[in-house]
Amino acid sequence: MRAPQESKLPITQDDCLALDAADPLSALRAQFALPEGVTYLDGNSLGARPKAAPERARAVLEAEWGDGLIRSWNTAGWYDLPVRLGDKLAPLIGAGPGEVVVTDSTSVNLFKALAAAIKLQADSPENGHRRTIVTERDSFPSDIYMAEAMIAWLDRGYRLRLLDSWDQLPDALNDDGGVAVVLLTHVNYRTGRMFDMGAVTAQVHAAGALMIWDLAHSAGAVEVGLTAAGADFAVGCTYKYLNGGPGSPAFIWVPQRHQGAFSQPLAGWWAHRQPFAMQPAFAPAAGIRRALCGTQPIVSLALVEVGLDIFAQAPLAGLRRKSLALTDLFIALVEQRCAGHGLTLVTPRPHAQRGSHVSFSHPHGYAVMQALIARGVIGDYREPQVMRFGFTPLYTAYADVWNAVHTLAAILDRGDYQIDAARGAVT
Ligand SMILES: *Cc1c(COP(=O)(O)O)cnc(C)c1O
Repeated sequence: MRAPQESKLPITQDDCLALDAADPLSALRAQFALPEGVTYLDGNSLGARPKAAPERARAVLEAEWGDGLIRSWNTAGWYDLPVRLGDKLAPLIGAGPGEVVVTDSTSVNLFKALAAAIKLQADSPENGHRRTIVTERDSFPSDIYMAEAMIAWLDRGYRLRLLDSWDQLPDALNDDGGVAVVLLTHVNYRTGRMFDMGAVTAQVHAAGALMIWDLAHSAGAVEVGLTAAGADFAVGCTYKYLNGGPGSPAFIWVPQRHQGAFSQPLAGWWAHRQPFAMQPAFAPAAGIRRALCGTQPIVSLALVEVGLDIFAQAPLAGLRRKSLALTDLFIALVEQRCAGHGLTLVTPRPHAQRGSHVSFSHPHGYAVMQALIARGVIGDYREPQVMRFGFTPLYTAYADVWNAVHTLAAILDRGDYQIDAARGAVT
């Protein structure tokens, strides 16, 4: 059968079932606990629970903590866990061993990366004068807040330049001549638009600035090549596509070439060369451990491994192919079945510019999403008017796409979202 998006014929439910039957990745779904009657399209915000997670948590609580007690820092490998998990995650983002740690939150890691990048520039004879940090106005707000807070805290004349659209980047880099750091989210959380990491990094470097990537909506969803792109630093989440569990620790990437000069302001004892020497003077650890701060949340960290282990069974190239097939199918079906209902595609159509979620705007987007959720189709809503649908290739079926669009079309055809709203179901 031809892929539905290439066909002019209406896509049928049978087409979707046939795609599932032929999908080499379909068996992976069985490794996730997905409730009956739910079509889950929000794995870009909180990944589904791997079935193996409770058993892993139990082992940490009972054997490692209960029986092992403090000995488990060594005997159960707790102390090395942030680095060991970082090495497991590294291939998913095109990083090398000893370059990633899983620790703290994305916001906190961003603060460290930004501080390190600013200091690298400030210490360089030719770049010391640079005082501008560039990011997008459409960035995830926490990223902007952290950059603003860093600038206010430094109080040394740094300023934030917010791009209104990404094609303003060349101007920002040229105009100013003083850009120290560019911080961009690889896949935009709202629109699903993806940057060309290699091209943008090269452009930023050509202007003498450093490049930080936020991979919150990329890691585990799209192929990422940090080393190939020659990027400077990166951070990202593990509770989205990596299925580490609510609030699971994030990651930070510091390439080997920057590790010697990497200096961050949250240098707690876990970043020390000899934490147990209990020296009053700080001396940073030689490698990636210097990106750590203090004692790590071992139960949460342990669950990150359960999510990462599933990726060992599925090459990312295959996952990306399926993700694109799912998002293509979703766009085509929505356009076939929901035409004339005021939906506008927000996500770019070209594959090279698309992550693993699709956003449509609708004047009543919030109410429509509430109506979908009330009928078991879980996506989410982001201001203004944007309905987001995430397609996690590990566990989303083509039949889920059919169900979601079938339900959406029924809601729009019948105006159910207005009826729900009038009944007070929308709060
Ligand atoms: C989800 C997300 C975050 C989350 O940061 P936390 O510190 O984990 O709350 C940060 N940045 C982006 C771009 C995100 O999508």
